[in-house]
Amino acid sequence: MAEILKGAPVAKKISEKLIKDVENLISNGIKPTLAILRVGEKEDDISYERGATKRCDKIGIGVKSFVLPQDVKQERVIEVIQEINEDREIHGALILRPFPKHLDDRLLRNLLAPEKDMDGISDSSLTGIFTDSDIGYPPCTASACLELLKHYGYEISGKNVVVIGRSLVIGKPVSMMLLKENATVSICHSRTKDIESITKRADIVIAAVGRANMINSDYLSEGQILIDVGINVDDNGKLTGDVNFDEAEGIVQAITPVPGGVGSVTTAMLANNVVEAAKKRIK
Ligand code: NAP
Repeated sequence: MAEILKGAPVAKKISEKLIKDVENLISNGIKPTLAILRVGEKEDDISYERGATKRCDKIGIGVKSFVLPQDVKQERVIEVIQEINEDREIHGALILRPFPKHLDDRLLRNLLAPEKDMDGISDSSLTGIFTDSDIGYPPCTASACLELLKHYGYEISGKNVVVIGRSLVIGKPVSMMLLKENATVSICHSRTKDIESITKRADIVIAAVGRANMINSDYLSEGQILIDVGINVDDNGKLTGDVNFDEAEGIVQAITPVPGGVGSVTTAMLANNVVEAAKKRIK
């Protein structure tokens, strides 16, 4: 049976360190503070906002929420992002996306100052990942994947890693971050032929597709480490990853559960970025 790579112990360890860092910052007169911008009342956004706020509360990070109506005019969203950029008491921001269709996603996500972009949404932050420079922060979910591997002692350097998915949120950034850690990375997507034969040869598989239970025994082989980023609802209304957990568990060496895997570490990485941003203020 596979080792289950639960996210909670990873998040706990990160949070314990951050609590000490926050105490230090507060004694230096800085209360790390995260702004959360949400447009509309989407259940996914509200749930992520709730999780992020709870994590920040536990660590001692302040949260300022900005909630705008679904039909908000673009000018108003621009004003709020500029307000966040200019507010010295805000160290970082999480902008929940995708925005409603009438808003210009590219324009808005690139308005956020890179030093306040806690989830790597701006082109500047993504440039930072691709050029190995210290601009912005990587997307929290991508960082969570690496953090899980490191926490459980799985070597990345020299390993063959297959990432399924090439979005800017996960697939592309996580691939570049793994490359930086000296993995040999293959990226698969919807036009890749015979994905099964590619994933079967991997040491580590990162599934970031968004298709419930797609990765079944045909894609897997013994000894693999499986990181399941997917968050989907299956035909029975059950929350499930991209991996068919029951089939995978009997084959691979280690696997992250859904829920309780990558998602649990994501908000800890967000908190980590806010604390790092606040520390830069001292420097
Ligand atoms: P996305 O933007 O829809 O990207 C999905 C990727 O999967 C695309 O690159 C797509 O290929 C590829 N794909 C789709 N069908 C495929 C197939 N049959 N075979 C191979 N590749 C296929 O989704 P995303 O934003 O990256 O999110 C992926 C999943 O992660 C979702 O389930 C999402 O809910 C979840 N997620 C989890 C967290 C977390 O904290 N755990 C955070 C964010 C997202 P093309 O590029 O060719 O279309």
